Amino acid sequence: MNDCIFCKIANHEIPGKIIYEDDVCLAFLDLSQTTRGHTLVIPKKHFDHFLDVDQDTLAYLIQTSQNVAKTLENKLQAQGFNIITNMNEVAGQTVKHFHIHIIPRYQTNDDFHIQYTDHSNDVNLDEIYNCIMNS
Ligand code: 5GP
Ligand code: ZN
Repeated sequence: MNDCIFCKIANHEIPGKIIYEDDVCLAFLDLSQTTRGHTLVIPKKHFDHFLDVDQDTLAYLIQTSQNVAKTLENKLQAQGFNIITNMNEVAGQTVKHFHIHIIPRYQTNDDFHIQYTDHSNDVNLDEIYNCIMNS
């Protein structure tokens, strides 16, 4: 945890373009800038991922994310957003300090894609439903 890059940004040990900060969390520009204004919202306290975060903190981070998105809508004229968190390597998480990506969108034909492949013809919805609902 000591070598966590996001803890270091939260502690101001390494620089970050911080656009919002309070006692609980901060928002800073993602280095990659997947789209213009791509921002990460993180808790100051270290949690590895989504499932580890206590619900009060998580609720606060979502509210903060909405405020950040409103700012980016106003200041950068974002037309929409993808709000994403990746959990664990299998889902593409590379930094193991919980973070919410705020990805502003300006046009549908930019180079950011989330592909929801349609597997509806290949799966049995009843089987999946029963698997989740049966104890
Ligand atoms: P993940 O892949 O874990 O969901 O997202 C990690 C994000 O952190 C990536 O989008 C990456 O560009 C960003 N990132 C990694 N290291 C740094 C850093 O030192 N500073 C900033 N601002 N962003 C970082
Ligand atoms: Zn950390």
